[in-house]
Amino acid sequence: MVDKTINLLDKKFTIFIEKKTIENRIHELANQLSDDYKGKNPIFVVVLTGGFIFASDLLKSLDFISEVYFIKVSSYAGLASTGKLNFELEIPKDKIVGRDIIVLEDIIETGLTISGVSQSLKTNGAKSVEIVSLLTKPSCFKCDLTVKYVGFAISDLFVVGYGLDYNQYGRQLNDIYQIVDAS
Ligand code: 5GP
Ligand code: MG
Repeated sequence: MVDKTINLLDKKFTIFIEKKTIENRIHELANQLSDDYKGKNPIFVVVLTGGFIFASDLLKSLDFISEVYFIKVSSYAGLASTGKLNFELEIPKDKIVGRDIIVLEDIIETGLTISGVSQSLKTNGAKSVEIVSLLTKPSCFKCDLTVKYVGFAISDLFVVGYGLDYNQYGRQLNDIYQIVDAS
C-alpha cells in the first residue's frame, strides 16, 4: 500500500504516478528502443542528477549492451526554471563523433536544458540525437522540440520522486508525487 501524502521540507506532496505504472511504461520504452536501435550500437547519455533512477531501470530492461555516459547540466533552482545552462560534467568529444546518441532525461519543462544538450552533442559531431524523457510538460515548452520517446506527458505541476527532487529531497521515492500547494 502506497502512502498518499508525504512532506519534504516545507512542502506537501501527494501520490501522482505509482511505481507499477512507471515500471510498465519503462518496459514499453525499452522494447521500443530495443527495436529501433537494433544493430546500431548507440551510446546512452544520462542527464544527472534526476535521470539516474529512470536511466538505471531503463538500461537494465534493454535487450542490448551499450556504452553509457553521464553529463550534468544545471538550470534549475528550487521551484522555478532559470533557463541558464551550466555544463558541470561533459563527455569527451571523441566518444560522440559519428555516433547515434540516446539522451536519457528525467523531465522536460521549458525544454531549454535538453535543447542545449542536444545542440551541444550535434555540434560535437553526433550522427543522430534522440531524447527519451520519463516526463514532459508540453504546455511549458519554450522551444521547438521533438521528444521521440516520452514516458508520460503531464500538465504544469511540480513533481518529485523516482530521481526527481525538491531541494535534493525525495529522489529515492519509488513513486512520483505532485506538489499539493506550490505557493
Ligand atoms: P527545462 O530546461 O526543461 O525547463 O528544465 C528541465 C529540468 O528542470 C529537469 O531536468 C529538472 O531537473 C527540472 N524540473 C523541471 N520540472 C520539474 C519538476 O516538476 N520537478 C522537479 N523535481 N524538477 C523539475
Ligand atoms: Mg533533468
